[in-house]
Amino acid sequence: MRKKLRLGIMGGTFDPIHYGHLVAAEEALVQFNLDRVVFMPTGIPVRKTHRSVTSAEHRYLMTVIATASNPDFEVSRMEVDRPGATYTVDTMLALRAQHGASAELYFITGADAVWEILTWKDSERLADVCTFIAATRPGYDLSRFEQDEVARHINVEFMEVPALAISSTDIRDRIGSRRPVRYLLPEAVAAYIAKNDLYRSGV
Ligand code: NAP
Repeated sequence: MRKKLRLGIMGGTFDPIHYGHLVAAEEALVQFNLDRVVFMPTGIPVRKTHRSVTSAEHRYLMTVIATASNPDFEVSRMEVDRPGATYTVDTMLALRAQHGASAELYFITGADAVWEILTWKDSERLADVCTFIAATRPGYDLSRFEQDEVARHINVEFMEVPALAISSTDIRDRIGSRRPVRYLLPEAVAAYIAKNDLYRSGV
């Protein structure tokens, strides 16, 4: 009998991608015995009205550069190419149709995003299609989860990732204020950022 596919989908804005994201994906791959992890940069994020997000094409290319050397990682253009705002439920239903009912889908993202899931489009349908893996930064308070409504509705696994002390916001701030980012993200991504003059105005 053919083994069931266990697919990780690493969802994020990746503005920019950094070592925290890469370590989280590798950790999920091993901890949850996944066959591979597909990085899924968002097209137009629904919630990012407070700041301008770097173009999807730049974020997609940085993700490709960062993941190129890992044979267990892939990058999908699905959300980047889909017109309109990005809704995770559309992505997961498309992946379910592509891989069949027997595939096990794991949506990996930051724990702060996971708390909001009940407010996402068609969250009940989404919860039927996949399991969530919430990556937390060190010292993250999980006790709140036990009383939270999310816990009753959504199947969430938590995974502490010390490397997530690195954050995209901090990297953008550092570049904007001319502070170093070396060792926070892959050198080739840093070179891409410099070449394309991204984040210099401190967005
Ligand atoms: P966000 O609010 O920018 O991120 C929340 C926190 O999680 C940040 O600390 C962020 O750190 C971290 N994070 C984000 N993606 C991560 C990842 N893959 N692994 C580890 N940490 C991660 O979140 P977002 O990027 O907008 O959204 C996350 C995912 O949820 C995306 O796939 C998005 O499409 C989906 N989403 C869907 C809906 C919907 O369907 N209605 C609504 C909101 C979000 P960094 O800034 O360092 O990444």
